[in-house]
Amino acid sequence: MDFEFTEEQKMLQDMAYRFAKANFTSVSQECDEQEKYTPEIRKKAAANGLVGAWVPEEYGGAGAGSLGNAIITEELSRVDMGIGLNVTAATFGCEAILQYGSEEQKKTWLPPVCAGEQVSAGAFTEPNAGTDVSGYKTRAVKDGGDYVINGSKMFITNGTVCDFMVTQCITNPEEKKHNSFSLIIVPADAKGVTRNKIHGKLGIRASDTAEIALEDVRVPQTNLVGKEGHGFRELMHFFDTTRVMVAGQALGLSEACLETSVKYVKERTAFGAPLGAYQLTQMKLTEMAIRIEALRGLVYKAAWLIDEGRPDYTLAAMAKFFGGQTAVFCANYAVELHGGYGYVEEYPVSKWYRDAKILELYEGTKEAEIMTIGRYLQTR
Ligand SMILES: Cc1cc2nc3c(=O)[nH]c(=O)nc-3n(C[C@H](O)[C@H](O)[C@H](O)COP(=O)(O)OP(=O)(O)OC[C@H]3O[C@@H](n4cnc5c(N)ncnc54)[C@H](O)[C@@H]3O)c2cc1C
Repeated sequence: MDFEFTEEQKMLQDMAYRFAKANFTSVSQECDEQEKYTPEIRKKAAANGLVGAWVPEEYGGAGAGSLGNAIITEELSRVDMGIGLNVTAATFGCEAILQYGSEEQKKTWLPPVCAGEQVSAGAFTEPNAGTDVSGYKTRAVKDGGDYVINGSKMFITNGTVCDFMVTQCITNPEEKKHNSFSLIIVPADAKGVTRNKIHGKLGIRASDTAEIALEDVRVPQTNLVGKEGHGFRELMHFFDTTRVMVAGQALGLSEACLETSVKYVKERTAFGAPLGAYQLTQMKLTEMAIRIEALRGLVYKAAWLIDEGRPDYTLAAMAKFFGGQTAVFCANYAVELHGGYGYVEEYPVSKWYRDAKILELYEGTKEAEIMTIGRYLQTR
């Protein structure tokens, strides 16, 4: 068993971190305060091969695979998870096109996103149903050579900045719930699409999140991704990869919390000695470090399995569950170790504390992950 990264992966790791340091740090606070999305950084990242790095080269990506993408996600999130998301989630939804799309769809939709010219979104959640995917109501009806789509989507990352959305719709209402869905590409400028940015998020405020209304939106039937009626299963497999990337975000944020805390406890003194001299402090650092190391193993193994052609949905759910928990845990300790300074903006840990919580909510809540893992355990 070889735990070493290849030379290319080491270079990617180093390049991604340096890119984030050079481009994210100076705008991090401004983007957080003003909820500013960062198109220039996304384009620059694309020029460096960091957008859609998981996409094979023949479709415009860097061909770095899921492990390469996890490494990028981790390194960008070590600096700013919100801005990092603008880079790594610029291709969100495209995973379904690569997994299930036709050759023509892959050649049409993937290269402009990898080049930083376009942005995609994955539009699944609805105002009245998130965890319960079978409760989605958005309807696509065939009319001539088109689908006519009506419904609404909620909390869509890149919602107001995207060029197209891979959208979960009911196409076969006569079938049982899980056989009634399909994934359909909806261009964001199609007539009948209304997009409203959601303001006031707790964290990842540089990331764009929107509510989308679809009113008699007409798209050609050739925009169907995969098979009609297979959208539910396709979406579940989509999460096999995307949950690993969320766990990669958690890994990066947790590392940042530990690194910053270690630096701080060496500098700050109390009762005549650095904070790090006290065993209670060491316990906090140690618990963070152990969780981070365990999370690293989960993320890299889950990503590696995808690249081996053996995606493991249970491991992806475990990585995502443990990732969210670890990030929230580490951000909490980081704030505590910084004392009152951790509660104000002087140090980035207060922002990371706010950013961390989303990792237990999106791409399936932690409860959704528990359901996935718990069900699997009883099938063995
Ligand atoms: C910033 C942000 C970005 C997002 N980006 C996207 C995106 O790009 N695309 C997209 O489609 N969605 C996106 N989402 C939506 C996100 O995935 C959902 O919010 C999430 O899946 C939860 O759905 P919900 O909000 O409807 O909560 P609900 O499903 O209503 O759940 C509420 C609570 O009940 C719990 N719960 C539900 N069912 C059960 C059960 N059976 N047993 C126990 N507990 C249960 C949940 O775990 C949760 O704690 C985003 C959300 C946010 C906040």
